[in-house]
Amino acid sequence: MVGPNAPTGHSVVLVTLDGVRWQELFLGEDPLLVREPKPIFERFWAELAPRGQVYGDPTNGEDVRAATATNASLPAYMSLYAEVAQGCFTNECGRIGVRTLADRLHDELGFAREQVQVIAAWRKLELAVSSRDEVAEVEAGAVNAPGEGHAPERALIAEGYESDRLPVLALREKLPERPRFLHLALWDSDRYGHQGDYARYVNVLRAYDRLLIEISEGLDDQTALVVTTDHGRGIADQWSEHGPQLPASSRVWAFVLPPRAGDFTLEAPRARRFDHHDVRYTIEALFGLGTPGSKGFVASQ
Ligand SMILES: [Zn+2]
Repeated sequence: MVGPNAPTGHSVVLVTLDGVRWQELFLGEDPLLVREPKPIFERFWAELAPRGQVYGDPTNGEDVRAATATNASLPAYMSLYAEVAQGCFTNECGRIGVRTLADRLHDELGFAREQVQVIAAWRKLELAVSSRDEVAEVEAGAVNAPGEGHAPERALIAEGYESDRLPVLALREKLPERPRFLHLALWDSDRYGHQGDYARYVNVLRAYDRLLIEISEGLDDQTALVVTTDHGRGIADQWSEHGPQLPASSRVWAFVLPPRAGDFTLEAPRARRFDHHDVRYTIEALFGLGTPGSKGFVASQ
């Protein structure tokens, strides 16, 4: 069941940063892991956060969680796309089988395939988008490099990007084309996390910080930016891992920057406990897709 739709004309850019802990977003480098902790998301906090709403700081009594207790990537991406739980508990699930956000954009708002773009560094994310090929253009895992020179790629390598390098180049091609929905899914954070390489993890988070500013500067007045992570990670010496065995890794966070031209009132971060489905509801509300029972982070419009 869905509610009546009232299309807003807005567009949404969704950026997911795989396995980025709340500690690094809200607090910066972890004093349990480095001797002289420094800030990380400096430009985000200075330039973006004041214009939107950030959710998920436990030190402020906020609670945003992965929607399943698996604290794994694919179940979380399925929660971001699907309205109901998928019975997917590991990264070995098959392709999603229920109606998704992408399906609704196609079926209920009439978006053409090229207006719904997913660019993902992690190949398996494509399993979460839709059961149908015709609703979205998905580049996952083997993202094609745009056809110009190599200098930008070297710059991205210097910034710490590895698997995310081609997705970032693809984003720079796609964003000016103004698709109605664009999901950029970055992954190097999780890869360096699993390697236990805190310096590289933090380094790529700083590159993400700059990229979020770049993306926000490329948005028109009708476009919202939503940023989240699929799962957290453990604490202290368990920081590199995540999963059902580490309940701390269920903590996630989200950021919503409404369109400049919009009239969206966002819920207070401590209003209630949120989860990944609220991110999906928020995106639907930004598009004017009716969803009985929740508007995610959007309190009214
Ligand atoms: Zn992940």
